[in-house]
Amino acid sequence: MSGDVQCPSGCGPMEYKTTRNLGIRTFDLLGNILMLGGAILIVNSMELGTGIGDNSKFLFGLLLFIPGFYRSSLVTTDLSCNTCTGVILESKSIDQKLKGDAFGLALNKAKYVREALSASTQEGEHDCPDCGKKMSHISVPLEGEARHRSNHLVPDMVETIQNMATVSRTIDLDGCKVCDLLWFDKAKKEEVLSRDDTIISKPS
Ligand SMILES: [Zn+2]
Ligand SMILES: [Zn+2]
Repeated sequence: MSGDVQCPSGCGPMEYKTTRNLGIRTFDLLGNILMLGGAILIVNSMELGTGIGDNSKFLFGLLLFIPGFYRSSLVTTDLSCNTCTGVILESKSIDQKLKGDAFGLALNKAKYVREALSASTQEGEHDCPDCGKKMSHISVPLEGEARHRSNHLVPDMVETIQNMATVSRTIDLDGCKVCDLLWFDKAKKEEVLSRDDTIISKPS
């Protein structure tokens, strides 16, 4: 997109913001090696019982694993609104962030969302910031209890997922199928849908 992109909610111009999402694994050779090495040391230190040598092995494992985990998480630059925290995902980010499975089939979240948008007959509340036509609205159902794999690393995400699990198991979003963009009115919704361990549930 070129020029100033206005927030669909009417807050004003949006800005490109670079964010790292710890809930999404991506390929990074050094990061993956560090994680693997760290994990081996950690498991090894637990198997061998207690003792000072094992403790240092455990700590050394953590020292490898944590930066590896950090390095191999996904970094993207997306249009964000500083006022309402809304986020726009464009084609490239949709592919990078929504690469996880939809209901365990050979269909990823990006494909699911794009097909749902194409099939949607429900108009969204706002106009597409790119082409100016009304966006389409979709509800994405999420599977089962929200699982959280790395609580200690992202405490605020855990809270969000728990809230979403109790309040609602669907994420509502708008998008433009022509411009291939998605509009999340809250950044948290985008983070939850993008996480590797968030799975879209089967249609009932
Ligand atoms: Zn806004
Ligand atoms: Zn559009």
